[in-house]
Amino acid sequence: MEWDVVIIGGGAAGLMCARVAGLRGRRVLVVEHANRCGKKILMSGGGRCNFTNTGTTPGNFLSANPHFCKSALARFTPTHFIGLVEQHRIGYHEKELGQLFCDDSSKRIVAMLLQECADAGVTVETSCSVERITQEQGHFRVATTRGTHAAASLVVATGGLSIPSMGATGFGYEIARQFGHTVLATRAGLVPLTLSGKHLDHYQDLSGLSLPVEVHCDGARFRNQLLFTHRGISGPGILQISSYWQPGKDLSIDLLPAEDAAEFLAGRQARQPASELRTVLGDALPKRLAQRLCDVWLGSKPMRQYRPAELRQIGAQLNAWPMVPSGTEGYRTAEVTLGGVDTNEVSSSTMESRRVRGLYFIGEVLDVTGHLGGYNFQWAWASGHAAGNVV
Ligand SMILES: Cc1cc2nc3c(=O)[nH]c(=O)nc-3n(C[C@H](O)[C@H](O)[C@H](O)COP(=O)(O)OP(=O)(O)OC[C@H]3O[C@@H](n4cnc5c(N)ncnc54)[C@H](O)[C@@H]3O)c2cc1C
Repeated sequence: MEWDVVIIGGGAAGLMCARVAGLRGRRVLVVEHANRCGKKILMSGGGRCNFTNTGTTPGNFLSANPHFCKSALARFTPTHFIGLVEQHRIGYHEKELGQLFCDDSSKRIVAMLLQECADAGVTVETSCSVERITQEQGHFRVATTRGTHAAASLVVATGGLSIPSMGATGFGYEIARQFGHTVLATRAGLVPLTLSGKHLDHYQDLSGLSLPVEVHCDGARFRNQLLFTHRGISGPGILQISSYWQPGKDLSIDLLPAEDAAEFLAGRQARQPASELRTVLGDALPKRLAQRLCDVWLGSKPMRQYRPAELRQIGAQLNAWPMVPSGTEGYRTAEVTLGGVDTNEVSSSTMESRRVRGLYFIGEVLDVTGHLGGYNFQWAWASGHAAGNVV
């Protein structure tokens, strides 16, 4: 069959690209190997899809080339996507920090994209696997389990490696390599971190306990919740910093981000000289954590017995708790994949390969990864829109 555009991957970026190209009158085929499109959208945001962030800036993305995402993000903004959501009368609300979620279900976003694609005359083939891609005389031939398709434009929208059980594959990277592209090393991002040894022994049974922290690693810092798990640490603050963490690096966790811990302790020493450190800390931190920190790290005695220098030292420890993760929970639970197709070989305005005319890469398969909070979908919409306008 002859098409103008074949898009491999019916996820967030692929469906947006298909819609935009279809509206331009292009004959568009989306090939999706899973039995339905948009499975990651369905499971996103706890089933409510955090579909964008109104505060999106290029600074919310990690990439070897931090400038790459600017052009597409500027041309398709959160306001554009919100317009589409409102046109389809999908109720939404803002949670924190500009994060927009559906009021009822992520299903509404998938249904909206599929409806938009249908209205734009796009053909979507699900449960269809690509077996081979070749290029002859400027045309791509895509051999699938349901026949061979030819098109002048081929868009790779296969996403990253996270959650393989939802259909994630490394196929996009294989296509990139087949056509001479560089694929930068990939690793799991927005992922819980694991602990081992004494850190795991000391904190494992606090599983389920959470507290607000400011976590630092490699020049990045995030203020949000830390959640203890039975294998390590998670929660939004830890997921955010996980994208900056690499094996061997330490985290520094400020357990009292809203205050200077030394000043807090000095104030309490004046007011409660007979109270033990563990009791005083139990007013500022979850009690079980305060108790545990005193048992395994800080010690505890009545406040009046601490010299000022000792309290300053303990305060500094509380504002910079050193933590050495042993690893991450990996792609099984990661929300995103860091690394991917090198953006230096792709046009930032059209997403077209600089090596092969007519070949495009959009969404997470590229080396562009957003912070937690709706930024990854905004990148999928924006990059899909950029390619959809030119394919
Ligand atoms: C649990 C979870 C929750 C998330 N929540 C949010 C959130 O709330 N907000 C946010 O911004 N981001 C969230 N993300 C990240 C977001 O889902 C992704 O960044 C986004 O979906 C990437 O869009 P994409 O189109 O590039 O890839 P995907 O949406 O993953 O789409 C890729 C598609 O390609 C298909 N595919 C793969 N290989 C092949 C192949 N060989 N042949 C044919 N088809 C193939 C896949 O089945 C899939 O349908 C979440 C991710 C996870 C895992």
